[in-house]
Amino acid sequence: MELTPVTDLPEIRPGDDLAALIADRADDLEREREGTVLTVASTVVSKAEGRTADLEDYPVSGRAEEIAARIEEVAGEEKDPRFAQAVLEESTELLIEAPFLLTETRFGHITVNAGIDRSNVPDHDLLLLPKRPTESAERIRRGLADHGYDDVAVIVTDTSGRPFRHGQRGVALGWAGMPASRDWRGERDRDGRELGVTVQSVVDELAGAANLVTGEGAGGTPAVVVRDWEFGDLEGSDELFRSVEDDLIRRALREWRFE
Ligand code: GDP
Ligand code: MN
Ligand code: MN
Ligand code: MN
Repeated sequence: MELTPVTDLPEIRPGDDLAALIADRADDLEREREGTVLTVASTVVSKAEGRTADLEDYPVSGRAEEIAARIEEVAGEEKDPRFAQAVLEESTELLIEAPFLLTETRFGHITVNAGIDRSNVPDHDLLLLPKRPTESAERIRRGLADHGYDDVAVIVTDTSGRPFRHGQRGVALGWAGMPASRDWRGERDRDGRELGVTVQSVVDELAGAANLVTGEGAGGTPAVVVRDWEFGDLEGSDELFRSVEDDLIRRALREWRFE
């Protein structure tokens, strides 16, 4: 497989047609063949969708005051209660409130600060995640089809931390034109033993690989073309976010969090 950044994309503004901007610049898409995937950093999807905000947009609730005070107490770090308010408004469940905010976003992704970004956001304080990243991915995929690229799968990515390990990496927030995961259950290993649990989160692995190319700073390369990669013959699944019943860690946090 080969990963190539889409170069020369401008600073993205509200209302920009990302698919058109990318189609004009991605020579690699012209050599389209089976197994082409386009990854797009959620940062530019959010910018195109006008998901910028300012701290002054968030009148502070008592809950946000409380959270900011707790974070200051536990982490010794000054927290703007308006930021806590923004996180609450983007979230459906608060899993950890201090020393950092861990929440479930409205579209089901669990991440620190509801994924609200303060880097790469000129003219505004905050950049919220896309409202519905799957719909964003579908829209970009349709836009590419309008430009003659009929079968490019699209993954909207973000950089995210993870439990248990230091370091951040790319994850998939939404995708279109391919399943999220590849189900290896029932396949056999080299000893002939049947695999019982392995469902490979392909969209996250592609997001991680693409993040190596986009970088995290001023590179200006939010979109990456992944060529010569194929999903293969295994069954696919679109289930990536665990349901509450299925999520031991989340249930443990629910019991622990307000002690
Ligand atoms: P995130 O992972 O979605 O939070 O996005 P990042 O802030 O890590 O940015 C990913 C890549 O997109 C980096 O190479 C940034 O320099 C680049 N980037 C961010 N905003 C823009 C933009 O408006 N235009 C262009 N061309 N690149 C951008
Ligand atoms: Mn981000
Ligand atoms: Mn990033
Ligand atoms: Mn293994």
